[in-house]
Amino acid sequence: MNNRTLAVETTGAVGKEVILKGWIHVRRDMGKIIFIHLRDRTGQVQVVFGPGECPDYEAAKTLRDEFVVEIGGLVAARGQKNVNPNMPTGTVEVQARSLNILSTAATPPFPLEDTKNVSEEQRLTYRYLDLRSERMNENIRFRSRAAMFIRNYLTRKGFVEIETPYITKGTPEGAREYIIPSRLHPGQFYVLPQSPQQFKQLLMVGGMERYFQIARCFRDEDQRGDRQPEFTQLDLEMSFVDQDDVLDLTEKLFTALVAELCPEKKITTMPFPRIPYAEAMKKWGSDKPDIRKDKNNPDELGFCFIVDFPLFEYSTADKKLVNTHHLFTAPQDSDLELLDTDPTKVKGKQYDFVLNGFEIAGGSIRIHDQELQRKVFKILKLTDREIETRFGHILRAFSYGVPPHGGIAPGLDRIVMILRNEPNIREVIAFPKTGDGRDLMMGAPSTLPASTLRDAHIQVRKDRKDSEES
Ligand code: ASP
Repeated sequence: MNNRTLAVETTGAVGKEVILKGWIHVRRDMGKIIFIHLRDRTGQVQVVFGPGECPDYEAAKTLRDEFVVEIGGLVAARGQKNVNPNMPTGTVEVQARSLNILSTAATPPFPLEDTKNVSEEQRLTYRYLDLRSERMNENIRFRSRAAMFIRNYLTRKGFVEIETPYITKGTPEGAREYIIPSRLHPGQFYVLPQSPQQFKQLLMVGGMERYFQIARCFRDEDQRGDRQPEFTQLDLEMSFVDQDDVLDLTEKLFTALVAELCPEKKITTMPFPRIPYAEAMKKWGSDKPDIRKDKNNPDELGFCFIVDFPLFEYSTADKKLVNTHHLFTAPQDSDLELLDTDPTKVKGKQYDFVLNGFEIAGGSIRIHDQELQRKVFKILKLTDREIETRFGHILRAFSYGVPPHGGIAPGLDRIVMILRNEPNIREVIAFPKTGDGRDLMMGAPSTLPASTLRDAHIQVRKDRKDSEES
């Protein structure tokens, strides 16, 4: 039986004997009396050890910051002048009667009160300590509440949460993919998906109609801005919809989420403006405009959608025609003829979702016609062989009755970052990697024993870092 009382519950337990469990947040000695703040997942409460009142008083003298303890005691109301208005439990204190030290603790390498100014190297090496700081703890809890809100909201709207594979085949969306060698099939590879794009479209062929997943996406990109090799998207897809249906759902979901989780925040413009790409470029010189009225107000949220993107563009590197979103995005109906004559003039049924100047989602209505999909592949100069090996499965699926469908994928990390007024996504990810993709706490990436590499049919080139000898 767990008869533990949580820190916040002490205010309702005046006159009662309780058992508290948690960490020593701070300890102060005033003469012979030892005051501690005990911290648990709900907050802190003051505990007092008086000589003669607690048989474990001597043990209390050994307490240091971050020791993990179990304390039995009597909850007492504080005298009027001792009330601490800055502490939610500031009206009470616990007079300790027993102490059990569950774990001692070395002195943390940095103060845990506010770790914002501690070097990132230190914070990420000791992430488990960094997470104890109130701000980080609250960020991670907020993220969980946001995910839960989204799950409940979408489930009520008839969506099904479905897990798609993480070990799969590439789905080209512009980024380099992480590859996994197959041990059972020498010389063959899986890749980690950049997004569940093809699977969610295949789920529409599978009759699920409304899918979502809070999905991890993997992209092996060079260090560029605030990016992570793995990040989280709220991935969703709907059948029998047009662009406005997807945007309406997105708008309603995020309006409700803000109202529920951040009632202090105000949305600049409702409904969210839907701005054509050409207009955004003309007016702001950017396809992710910051439309807030007061950019210094941390409680203002400027949501908008950018629509009518060109479907293709010439790549800056080699001047080849490339898709601006991904290859499955449908052209606008009025531009279908331009596909044959001037593809760069074709606009897509394609949209971005923007918040405070950050692109927080992209999505589109997809091509659901095999022939049109084939035509787009051809415009992008894919050979028949490439089409068959890379996309044969999706074209085949489309031959068995496919509903019109479309979706969007808001980036959860970035949204939580903005809602928490944090400067980067690492502040809202429990175990992020450094800008150059290292996990300092676990020590990844790392070399592997030669036998492990042998099993995976991998030979590391001698001019690269040697593998460990096994
Ligand atoms: N898969 C796309 C992306 O990751 C989103 C979508 O089109 O739904 O950007």
